[in-house]
Amino acid sequence: MDSQTPQATPPSTVRQDTSSTGATSGSVVRKPLALSPSRANDFKQCPLLYRFRAIDRLPEPSTKAQARGTLVHSALESLYGLPRPQRSQAQAIDLLGPAWDRLVADDPEVVELVGEDRDGFLREARRLVERYFTMEDPTRFDPESCELFVEAETGDGVRLRGFVDRIDVAPTGEVRVVDYKTGRAPRQLYAGSALFQMKFYALMLLRTRGVIPHQLKLMYLGDGGVMTLSPDEAELRSFERTLDAIWGAIRAAGLSGDFRPSPSKLCGWCDHQALCPEFGGTPPEYPGWPGD
Ligand code: SF4
Repeated sequence: MDSQTPQATPPSTVRQDTSSTGATSGSVVRKPLALSPSRANDFKQCPLLYRFRAIDRLPEPSTKAQARGTLVHSALESLYGLPRPQRSQAQAIDLLGPAWDRLVADDPEVVELVGEDRDGFLREARRLVERYFTMEDPTRFDPESCELFVEAETGDGVRLRGFVDRIDVAPTGEVRVVDYKTGRAPRQLYAGSALFQMKFYALMLLRTRGVIPHQLKLMYLGDGGVMTLSPDEAELRSFERTLDAIWGAIRAAGLSGDFRPSPSKLCGWCDHQALCPEFGGTPPEYPGWPGD
């Protein structure tokens, strides 16, 4: 732990999406799958992409944007580990240093990824932290939790997993779920996956705590944009049925091995075009459904 941050809780620098099979050196541990917001979105976008990521677990190169996001999340998590009076902007920027060290320790390849532009990379991270301070005053409240790993089940027994950036509980008991995005707020047309993610977290809290979050808040540190949602129980129950249906479709595809490609403009961001029949490729042999 950095000597400048004696009270800071060591944050988990890299968040693993544990909704997929796990791998260890030399052997693959096949454990039952669960649904996470990102994997559900993958399946909705393209079933074959879901298969490549969740079942084949094909490696994908990290991006600078992902590394920067991890860095900023880690620094903000450390910030909330400090007593309120110490949560200054200068302190938060200082916390980027130890957050960078943790990032490199967890994934040494990040040094190569960032390359010679480490100063520019850190400068952009500082800018995001500064923007955060224009959006919230972290000395005014104590979060109940940061970077919380949550597992839940729908009424039909579908396993849900995900990391919640921050949960705030007001003295009145009202719960707020906060998610930091290090990009810019999407136009309304593209806000669907962000809202899907927030409803996913809200449903997990309803299932694990029996409470409906008063507010779901997305904070876009790239431009200071904020999106909020206040779901009611009927909305979350309806969303739960949507997740059950998505999981039903995933399971059916998983048992048959029939994960069809669904080409779209988003293929331009897919790392697996070389294996995709839509681009003349052949997927690897299907490893089989990991089981329920
Ligand atoms: S290239 Fe497009 S269609 Fe093919 S797997 Fe990727 S997202 Fe799906």
